[in-house]
Amino acid sequence: MSANSSANTNGAKEPEAGPPFWRTTPLSAMTRPQWESLCDGCGRCCLHKIEDADTGEVHYTNVACRLLNLHTCGCKNYKNRWDDVPDCVELSPVVLPNLQWLPSTCAYRLLYEGKVLPWWHPLVSGNRDTVHQAGISVRGRVIAESRADLLDYHVVTWPE
Ligand code: SF4
Ligand code: SF4
Repeated sequence: MSANSSANTNGAKEPEAGPPFWRTTPLSAMTRPQWESLCDGCGRCCLHKIEDADTGEVHYTNVACRLLNLHTCGCKNYKNRWDDVPDCVELSPVVLPNLQWLPSTCAYRLLYEGKVLPWWHPLVSGNRDTVHQAGISVRGRVIAESRADLLDYHVVTWPE
């Protein structure tokens, strides 16, 4: 009998699920599907940002990348996104330490900082909608590039 077991109502033993992969597997050791599944689908990182030339500080705007679906908050052409948006940053364990502008809610940042995934993360809730229900996603809060003025007029603080 394994140590990881528990009794069911009939007294028989059933195997217990171990801790989820994101608690046991370092970011650098994750498989591609595991890595991709960490994205909560919030769309926050897909907003245009402005970098202060003097301080290097990055400010978010409420203007979405042209490929962002404003309802689902997903990329409309994720696989071939660089055809349309060459400067889209590909997240990886290597570049993660350099991406201080990632929102504090981002799962990659949370795990990199040794924190836990929150209840609304789809991997925890089992439901892709909780990121919207919790008000974390950009749904209803952003505009398309085509409707935007100068980015300076669209700076927001909530993604940070
Ligand atoms: S901020 Fe992080 S979790 Fe949210 S969409 Fe971007 S990569 Fe995914
Ligand atoms: S190209 Fe897609 S993944 Fe990259 S910033 Fe735009 S919407 Fe997001």
